Amino acid sequence: MENKKLASDNFKVPALPAGRPLHTSSKANIPEIKEPTSASLKNTHDKKNAWALTDFDLGRALGKGKFGNVYLAREKESRYVVALKVLFKSQILDADIEHQVRREVEIQCRLRHPNILRMYGYFHDEKRIYLILEYAKHGALYVLLKQRGRFDEKTAAIYIRDLTKALIYCHAKKVIHRDIKPENILIGHNWELKIADFGWSVHSPSSRRMTLCGTLDYLSPEMIEGKPHTYAVDIWSLGVLCYELLVGLPPFDAKHSNQTYLKIRYVIIKYPEYISEKAKDLMSKLLVVVPEHRLPLTSVLQHPWILENAPEGVPPPVFNPENLHPNDKH
Ligand code: AMP
Repeated sequence: MENKKLASDNFKVPALPAGRPLHTSSKANIPEIKEPTSASLKNTHDKKNAWALTDFDLGRALGKGKFGNVYLAREKESRYVVALKVLFKSQILDADIEHQVRREVEIQCRLRHPNILRMYGYFHDEKRIYLILEYAKHGALYVLLKQRGRFDEKTAAIYIRDLTKALIYCHAKKVIHRDIKPENILIGHNWELKIADFGWSVHSPSSRRMTLCGTLDYLSPEMIEGKPHTYAVDIWSLGVLCYELLVGLPPFDAKHSNQTYLKIRYVIIKYPEYISEKAKDLMSKLLVVVPEHRLPLTSVLQHPWILENAPEGVPPPVFNPENLHPNDKH
C-alpha cells in the first residue's frame, strides 16, 4: 500500500491544474455538434497553456476501454467537439503500463495524418489522466465489421490503401505501431479510417521483448518468438487485417492459442473461394515469415488489387447510419 502511494505520487506527468471530478459534470448531455471548420482548439490552448476538465462540457459515453471510459466532450471556448479518454492512475499503476501511456501520449501528439486519430493534448487530476482526442464520429471499425460480417473487396481495398498510407507516414517518423487490428481503428466523419491507440507503439529501432497479452491473432512470427522486430511487424498485421476485413475472421483464428501460434509460425492460411486471386496475391506477399521479404508498403499502394479496387481519390463507402449503433457494445 505504502509503495503504491509512493508510486502514485511519483506519476510524473507535467504539472497541470487539477480539474473538477468527472462525476460532477458527466450528467450534462450535450447535443451532437458538427465539427467546427475554423475554430481551432489549438489556438484556444495556446492562449491558456494548460487544460482542465472545467474547459469541457461532457456528453455521452462513447465507449469503455480496459482502463477507463471515453466521453464525447466539447471545449467550451472554441466549441470544438472532441473525445475525452479518461484513464485511472491507480489502474495504470496496478497494470504497470505507465510507460505505455506515456509513450502513447508522446507519440500520438506528434502525428498529423488524415488516417491517424489526432491527440490534441492531455491533462490530469489527482486520480485520472484525460487524453483529448479527435472525435471519430462513426466509432470502431471492429463494430462495423461485426455488424456487416465482412466487407466487399472494394471497401476492404480502400481501407487497406488508407491504412498503408498512414503506416508509411508513421514509419517515416520512425514510429512502429505494433498493434494494428480492427479494435484499434476508428472511423471518422467522412467514413475514413483512423489508426488509434498507440499504446504499444515504439520509436524504431526496437529490439524490446513484448509482453504478450490479449489475442495472438495479429502478432507476427518474430514477435511471438520474442525476436527483435522492426517496421515489418506492421506490414504483417496489415496482411492479417486485409484477411479479416474480407473474411470476417483473422487468418490464424483457432480454438486454442497454441494452434494459432503454430498457424502463424508456419503461415497456414485457408482462403475462402470467394476471395479474388489478386487479393490472395497481396496477402501472400504481406504474410511472409522473413520480415525483410514482406512487400514494402510503397509497393502495396502499387499492387494490382489496390489499383483495381481502390484507385487514388476514391473515398471510403458511406454505410447506412440506420443500421449502425454509434456506441461500441463489445
Ligand atoms: P479504448 O479505450 O480506446 O479502447 O476505447 C473504447 C471505445 O471507445 C472504442 O472501442 C470506441 O468505440 C470508443 N472510442 C474511443 N476513442 C474514440 C474516439 N476518439 N471517438 C469516438 N469513439 C471513440
